[in-house]
Amino acid sequence: MKYVIIGAGVAGYAAIEAIRTVDQAGEIIMISNDPHGYYSRPGLAYYLTGELHDKSLYPRTQEDYKRLKFSFLKGNVTRILRSEHALEIDGKSRLTYDKLLIAVGARALPLEVPGSKLDGVVKLDHLADAKNILKLAKSGKTAVVVGGGITALELTEGLLARGMNVHYLLRGDRYWSNVLDQHESTVVQGRLQAEGVELHHHAELAEIIGKKNRVSAIRLEDGKIIKCDMLAYAIGIRPCLELVQGTELTLDRGILADEHLQTNDPDIFAAGDVAQVFDPLSGRAVLDSLWNPARDQGYVAGMNMAGRKTAYLKSPPFNVTRLAGLTTTIIGTVGHGQDKDVVGIARGDSETWRDLPDAIEAQSGFDINHMRLVIGGKTLIGAILMGDQKLSWPLQKMIAGGADISPIREKLLMPEAPIADLIADFWVAWRAQAAL
Ligand SMILES: Cc1cc2nc3c(=O)[nH]c(=O)nc-3n(C[C@H](O)[C@H](O)[C@H](O)COP(=O)(O)OP(=O)(O)OC[C@H]3O[C@@H](n4cnc5c(N)ncnc54)[C@H](O)[C@@H]3O)c2cc1C
Repeated sequence: MKYVIIGAGVAGYAAIEAIRTVDQAGEIIMISNDPHGYYSRPGLAYYLTGELHDKSLYPRTQEDYKRLKFSFLKGNVTRILRSEHALEIDGKSRLTYDKLLIAVGARALPLEVPGSKLDGVVKLDHLADAKNILKLAKSGKTAVVVGGGITALELTEGLLARGMNVHYLLRGDRYWSNVLDQHESTVVQGRLQAEGVELHHHAELAEIIGKKNRVSAIRLEDGKIIKCDMLAYAIGIRPCLELVQGTELTLDRGILADEHLQTNDPDIFAAGDVAQVFDPLSGRAVLDSLWNPARDQGYVAGMNMAGRKTAYLKSPPFNVTRLAGLTTTIIGTVGHGQDKDVVGIARGDSETWRDLPDAIEAQSGFDINHMRLVIGGKTLIGAILMGDQKLSWPLQKMIAGGADISPIREKLLMPEAPIADLIADFWVAWRAQAAL
C-alpha cells in the first residue's frame, strides 16, 4: 500500500503515526511546500515575543521521524489527478498513491485595500512570516495591526515585545465581539492600553501608503493618517481549496469529509484546517482552526486509510490561549453573532464557539480573574475563564462529558452565586462518579 500525505502540519503527522500503528510495511510519503517542515503554528506567537526559539518550535525529533519510516518530499502539489490516482508536483513530476490525505491547512485572507502588496505588509501563517516580521521589526518603529481574534493580538504582543509602538484598528466598538462579552472585551482592551497600545475603534482601513515600495503610513476612511513602517493583518483565514478545484471532491467552506474523514472519493481523505468534518452528534459539518482537532482528525484519517474503520468523535472545542497577556480558556459554545474584524473563521477559532444555544449565563469575577458559564437545560454548554485557570481542566472535562449539573443549576443562576466554589465542589463529586 502506498500512502501519500499532502501537508506537513499536525494533521499530516498524526496520520502517519496512526498508519504505522496498523501497517508497518506500507510506503508513506509526506509532501510539503513549507521548507521548515513540521513545527508548532500556535508556537509562532511565542516565537514572535521571543519566549520560544527556533528549536523549541519543533514537536518531534529526527529519531521520531526515523521510527515512523516515511519519506519527506519538498514540493508544491499543483494538481490531483483522481482518475490516475496521481499528484502533479511543481507543475511537472508525478507521484502515484493508493490512499491520499489532503491536510493542506488554511491561509490568511488577503487584505483588499490599495497598497496591500507593499513591503512591510505582513501576516502570520508560517514560520517564514514570523521570521520576516522579526527582520522588519528590527528597523521599524511603529506598526499598525488590523483584524480580530487571537492572531491580531498575537501580532500586537509580538511587535510590542520587539520594541515597536502599536496602533490597533478595530472596525466595531469592542474586541472580538462574537466570542467575548462586553466585560471580557473591556478587560482585554484595558490591558492593551496599559501596555501602550493605541486603540482605534470604528476604524476602517482605506489605504496603505508607501514610499520606495515600503509601507510609510496608512489612511483610514475618515481621512486620518497614521505613520507606520509595518501593517500586520489577521482578518480571518480560509481553507486552502485551490488544489481540489475541478477534482469533483465535494466542497462547502472546506473539503467535506464524513466522520471517517473520507471525502466523496473512497481513496481520498481530508483532515485539519482544510476539512469541514461531519459531526454525527450535531448532524452538522463545521470548520475548526484548532491544533487538537486537527491532530485528532489526522489520526482518525490515518487509521481509516490503513483499513482500521474508526469514527472521529468531535468534542466541544477548546483553546487555552493568551489575550493581552491574560491566560484565557475558551470551551464549547460561548459566543454569538457577527464580528466585524474577522471574516468567517480566525486562527485558533471554532465555528462551534458561535452557535446560538438555548442557554443562560452565569458569571463571576469582574476583574482579571473572571469566569463565564453558558448553562443549558441540564448541562454546561460552554465556558470562558480568564486569569485564574484552576477550573480550566475540570470545565473542559465536564463540558465534554456532558455532566448533568441539575443538582447545582439553580444555585449557579442565583444573583451573586459563588459559581467557582459551586463548580469546584461539583467537580469533586462528578469526577469520583465518572471515575476520572
Ligand atoms: C499564528 C497561529 C496561532 C495559532 N494559535 C492557535 C491556538 O492558540 N490554539 C489552537 O488550537 N490552534 C491555533 N492555531 C491553529 C493551529 O495551528 C492549526 O489549527 C493547525 O496547525 C492545523 O494543522 P493542519 O495540519 O490542518 O494544517 P497546517 O499546520 O496549516 O499544515 C498544512 C501543511 O500543508 C502544506 N501545504 C499547503 N498547500 C500545499 C501544497 N499545495 N503542496 C504541498 N504542501 C502544501 C503547508 O506547507 C503545511 O505544511 C494557530 C495557528 C497560527 C498560524
